[in-house]
Amino acid sequence: MSSTSNSKLSFATRSVHAGYNSADHEGSLNPPIYMTSTFAFDNVAQGAARFAGEESGHFYSRVSNPTQQILETRLADLEEGEAALATASGMGAITSTLWTLLAPGDQLLVDKTLYGCTFSFMEHGLKKFGVDICYADFTDHADIQANLSENTRVLYFETPVNPNMRVMDIAAISALTKDYNPEIRVIVDNTYCTPALQRPLTLGADLVVHSATKYLGGHGDLIAGAVVGDAETIQQIRLSGLKDMTGAVIAPMTVFLILRGIKTLQLRMERHCQNAQAIAEMLEQHPTVDQVFFPGLKNNPGHQIASQQMDDFGGMIALELKGGYEAGVRMLNRLKLVKLAVSLGDAETLIQHPASMTHSVYTPEERAEHGISEGLVRISAGLEAVGDIIADLEQALEG
Ligand SMILES: *Cc1c(COP(=O)(O)O)cnc(C)c1O
Repeated sequence: MSSTSNSKLSFATRSVHAGYNSADHEGSLNPPIYMTSTFAFDNVAQGAARFAGEESGHFYSRVSNPTQQILETRLADLEEGEAALATASGMGAITSTLWTLLAPGDQLLVDKTLYGCTFSFMEHGLKKFGVDICYADFTDHADIQANLSENTRVLYFETPVNPNMRVMDIAAISALTKDYNPEIRVIVDNTYCTPALQRPLTLGADLVVHSATKYLGGHGDLIAGAVVGDAETIQQIRLSGLKDMTGAVIAPMTVFLILRGIKTLQLRMERHCQNAQAIAEMLEQHPTVDQVFFPGLKNNPGHQIASQQMDDFGGMIALELKGGYEAGVRMLNRLKLVKLAVSLGDAETLIQHPASMTHSVYTPEERAEHGISEGLVRISAGLEAVGDIIADLEQALEG
């Protein structure tokens, strides 16, 4: 079978094969891990040509590495983009991308709720360097329109949003932004869905960023990230944001583990989605639960858009207990099977409290303003038998 992209093959097949041809590697069924910092040139002219970008090929592993390149080709294929760049963490992907695209005086227009460290990078990082950070409610398109300006360079959002599960209409937001100014880059953090469920580039977004730590790796044993988009922009991010600004380089061993994880991505996502749907339906009926935020529930405000732009509703759930924060603490401390831990997308079902954990970088006032309530609890549905997960949640809720 030929290597790299063949979009006629189905997603599951490409997850196993894209970007790798064993015939190029002594028949090795799995990709070799190139543990090398540098690459020997045949002669001075070749070294110069590689540095100048006139000849393809590697020269130093802060820029590219053959193992990393296999993962990048596979990710680009699955997200239906031209090119990808793998990084040391999701934050490495986000910072390398935004440092490359923004300059002092530029406006970055973002949804009001973001992953904690993304918010912190914008609010405490980019702002310090003169980037104007503007927050809007991206579920309200008039609010986006009211905040677009001649200085807007980038629009950035997550969907569904970490942690409160609001759903954004990627196609409509991309279209209204391009109508205003086709030069504005639309960036979607696709960590919650992965390309197995949602492909923002096919809906009009320009770039997709990922925390590969989560579902792409899928086993809770690594930290990594990626950005996918057009080849020219990805090359700029590689040669400026990554090479010179963040140095957030992924290790070849980590790349190998992600490639292994991606082989089962679609299988795992199917189970994550099934389990989350069953857990959300149980929680919705439970007398101690005030609200469940999960796009797979018919009365969820994002249900309609999620049905259109996602292939399934994902593995993440948020909930609010009737007893608020105190009841949440009681429940979290009573769980036995479900692990009290941040991160998501692992085989283990994980539960956490955003206000004191993943979103504690927001001040209480900022949390109120940005739509993260103090009692919110977040669940990442794992791959265990759903009956066992539900039994543990029920015994904890009843305590
Ligand atoms: C975890 C996460 C990140 C950050 O990724 P790291 O790999 O932890 O650096 C960014 N966005 C979302 C939505 C996340 O869940």
